[in-house]
Amino acid sequence: MIYIIGSGFSGLTTAYALNKIGLKTTIISPGEKIKTKNISLIKYLLKNNGEILNNTNFLSRKINKLNKVKIINCKYLLSHMDGGQSNIWGGIIGNIEEYKFNSKVIKKKEILKYKKELLKLLKILNIKYKNNYLLEKNYSISKKNVSNLKKFLIKKKIVFKSNLFVKDIDFKNSILKVHNIKKNSQLNLPFTKLFLSCGPIETSKLLLNSFQSIKKIFLKETQHFYALIKINRKLESRFFEARYGKYNFSCQLYSVKNIIGLFFRKYVKNLDGFDENQYFIGQCYLNSNYSGKIKVYKMGDKFILEGKKNLRFSKHHFINSINKFNKKNKIIKIKKIFFNKIGASNHLGASIPITNNKKIKLGVNKFGKLNNQKNIYISDSSVLNDIDISPITIFSLNNILRMILSNKKI
Ligand SMILES: Cc1cc2nc3c(=O)[nH]c(=O)nc-3n(C[C@H](O)[C@H](O)[C@H](O)COP(=O)(O)OP(=O)(O)OC[C@H]3O[C@@H](n4cnc5c(N)ncnc54)[C@H](O)[C@@H]3O)c2cc1C
Repeated sequence: MIYIIGSGFSGLTTAYALNKIGLKTTIISPGEKIKTKNISLIKYLLKNNGEILNNTNFLSRKINKLNKVKIINCKYLLSHMDGGQSNIWGGIIGNIEEYKFNSKVIKKKEILKYKKELLKLLKILNIKYKNNYLLEKNYSISKKNVSNLKKFLIKKKIVFKSNLFVKDIDFKNSILKVHNIKKNSQLNLPFTKLFLSCGPIETSKLLLNSFQSIKKIFLKETQHFYALIKINRKLESRFFEARYGKYNFSCQLYSVKNIIGLFFRKYVKNLDGFDENQYFIGQCYLNSNYSGKIKVYKMGDKFILEGKKNLRFSKHHFINSINKFNKKNKIIKIKKIFFNKIGASNHLGASIPITNNKKIKLGVNKFGKLNNQKNIYISDSSVLNDIDISPITIFSLNNILRMILSNKKI
């Protein structure tokens, strides 16, 4: 039996790709059925530290018992509802050509080889892909979750098993140790191949639970900040990238109306409300040289998730550079910057990257196979080699398609 753990974008894309090469799979996740649930805007913006769970209260209670966590100096959002985070976020999904994938193992040409397959997948997801290039980014925008893809996969006889939370992997005997959330019972599921698509945080926890030899995992993210931005001319798009000196950041602009729309699930249009001389809230992602990290490790039965600052990054120096940037350009004035906690960008991963060095315990080969394991694959943003400033999801999906469709030995 081939199991995929996780029913978010990554898990369903994995099932889609495996189905393409003739392999039938079963997807396991704790959520019952795709249910959209809004995060509380107050909780999201004002919560300074900790894990924000976007589940039903019942599911959160159960998961908290099975998966105890202590958070230090970081903030991030997780959802164990069926469909994972795809149910919460709208916003953008980006453009694969623009993602800077710094890998010595895989060439960009190889990465873009499966673009046609990606476009087919996006069509099923009902996501329109834009391909224009402007200084201001013309990203594909979507508020779609994975429900269309799930319907497609059910027709292809992919099995979905809900209410199941995988506690650990007995890799020696190829058995999954699973907790049934509804029945409160334990079960063992033997597997022939296993794909971990739990999202980078939960994938890390599962590996730490399963492999005694793995003591800690570091996740990368982009340093995230909000900015109050005045725009002096009409922009083509609410997404842009800026560069000054050694700093480079991407920015998504939101009017107050946009922000309300985002949290109340109204469709946010690309060019909504873009008049000159207006103030916006910018959601910004700084280049990965200055990224913080999240260290995941265990103490007793608890997972500790600890935000670790990047010592190369000086807020003071950055703000000085922004002041110079403001003087030099006539279009954008950045009036105020609010740095967010590590993790808050929700663009996370690169924790188990692709490598040719088989000795690296926390590495995968170019097909996502975990080093020193026969049949365990990592199939989410954990295996990206870097977390760039542009949105990660579309690039991660493209990478999952590549890893599976190019693997002749699977
Ligand atoms: C507020 C917010 C805004 C975002 N904005 C953007 C954006 O603009 N652009 C962009 O590209 N990306 C954005 N992202 C990131 C994007 O949502 C994620 O990259 C993407 O959804 C990740 O999908 P995934 O399937 O890897 O993980 P998830 O969606 O987290 O899915 C993980 C799945 O695994 C299941 N699971 C976890 N642990 C276990 C276990 N032990 N046993 C069984 N099942 C398990 C979960 O229940 C879930 O089904 C945003 C995220 C957030 C939270």
